[in-house]
Amino acid sequence: MVQLKKKLSGQMRVKSIPPFAGSGDLPEPDVYVIASGGVRIPAHSKILASASSVMENIIERAQKHRSTERKVPMLGVPYDAVAVFIQFLYSSRCSEEQLEKYGIHLLALSHVYLIPQLKQRCTKGLAKRVTVENVVDVIQLARLCDAPDLYLKCIKLLSNNYKAVEATEGWKFLQNHDPHLELEILQFIDEAESRKKRARRHREEQRLYAQLSEAMDCLEHICSEGCTTVGPYDMDLSKHKGPCSKYSTCHGIQLLIKHFGTCEKRVNGGCSRCKRMWQLFRLHSSICDQPDECRVPLCRQFKLKAQQDRRVNDSRWRLLVRKVVRAKTFSSLSILKRKRGEEARMGTYRQGVRSFPLAR
Ligand SMILES: [Zn+2]
Ligand SMILES: [Zn+2]
Ligand SMILES: [Zn+2]
Repeated sequence: MVQLKKKLSGQMRVKSIPPFAGSGDLPEPDVYVIASGGVRIPAHSKILASASSVMENIIERAQKHRSTERKVPMLGVPYDAVAVFIQFLYSSRCSEEQLEKYGIHLLALSHVYLIPQLKQRCTKGLAKRVTVENVVDVIQLARLCDAPDLYLKCIKLLSNNYKAVEATEGWKFLQNHDPHLELEILQFIDEAESRKKRARRHREEQRLYAQLSEAMDCLEHICSEGCTTVGPYDMDLSKHKGPCSKYSTCHGIQLLIKHFGTCEKRVNGGCSRCKRMWQLFRLHSSICDQPDECRVPLCRQFKLKAQQDRRVNDSRWRLLVRKVVRAKTFSSLSILKRKRGEEARMGTYRQGVRSFPLAR
């Protein structure tokens, strides 16, 4: 390519440029592609016209005007890029090195002259090479050339590296010359951030509901089976009980129950820990479907109170209950699935044993 450049700048008329140089079967070139700096690249009108309908039109128009010399102007990009472009029209090939060097120009040319295969290669190549430094140029081009994949790739990179991009010359240029695109980008970043925030909030909420659901399981288990040192009043806890599989949560609930039983402030509305225990009892009662056999303290009292207060519209509480029930369902589902998976494995094992030929 260096050699070609020398050749091009040394003498403006170029007889032939690879790869169509030396293609013995081809007739004499009958058209010139005029690149920037007045460089003329000889070519064959049939090949250009068959590769690109846009070029076909230009060549036909030149024929109608009976110009003595047929020309296709291709200005505004470096002539080396034009040479690579013409080479692609002849051979459907260009190297990674060429793509890296002239990707931006080749994308523009392939868009203008409707060469989808090259456009696709450029889009993919540029998407791999887009950086903080060139992202503003590439996104402008992606928008001009209607390359949505590349545009999306750029805008994501911009959104993740906004501070660094903001300091580049490209961004300053964009601010001064394309306020519409600047606005579009800033809106995207804004939306992406609120999407992330929403997702984070959702994850946090799910974690909270899952914790509450586990707390409910532990509360029921402590009040019906007993665990380590806390259990129903009529149960002999000296017999070894637990610790259970959810002991980190269970232990916390046990401490709360012990505190609730002894706290002196409880009578006057209670301390924050008592309030928390109170809330857990109330939540249990809201989701408990067997209050008659239930051994959790205050379950029936809360149920009764809830029936009396039915007219009070506590939608936030009801939403909380719904979410905890949902989390409980999910956790039982995952346990069931795990069990079924184990059973299926055991089944194959048993089958394996059955079908094992007995030694006689
Ligand atoms: Zn336990
Ligand atoms: Zn207390
Ligand atoms: Zn209950």
